[in-house]
Amino acid sequence: MQRWTSQLSLILGIVYETEHFLSAEKIHHTLMHKDTNIGIATVYRNLRKLVGQGLISEVSWKNVNYYTKHPFSNAFFVCEKCDKMLRIDIPLADQTYLSNEIGMSVKKWRMMFEGICKECESCT
Ligand SMILES: [Zn+2]
Repeated sequence: MQRWTSQLSLILGIVYETEHFLSAEKIHHTLMHKDTNIGIATVYRNLRKLVGQGLISEVSWKNVNYYTKHPFSNAFFVCEKCDKMLRIDIPLADQTYLSNEIGMSVKKWRMMFEGICKECESCT
C-alpha cells in the first residue's frame, strides 16, 4: 500500500508542477529523470485513479489523453506547430446556466481552440 501511495503522489506532483496539460508519456519520461522505476502501465493506472478521485482533469486529443491539475478545466488550446496543449481559463463553465440557456441537461463540456502558441510565433 505504501508503494502505491508514493507512486500516486509522485505522479500527482508532476502533474501539479505545471499549469498545462501533460501526456502519460511525458509524465513517465519525467519520472524516469527522477530515477524511479515506474512503468507506463502503472502511470496510466494512477492517472485514471486521480481522474476518478476528481484531483486532475483529462482530455483526449488525437487518441492521446492529456492531464492537468485543474479538475474542472475543459478548455484548452492546441498549437498546430508543436502540438503543445495549453490550459485556458474561461468563465462560462457554469453548467446550470448552460442547461437553462439551451433547455437541455448539460453534464460535461469541452472547448478547444487551435492555433499557434506564443513560442512558435516568436520563432518564425
Ligand atoms: Zn507551438
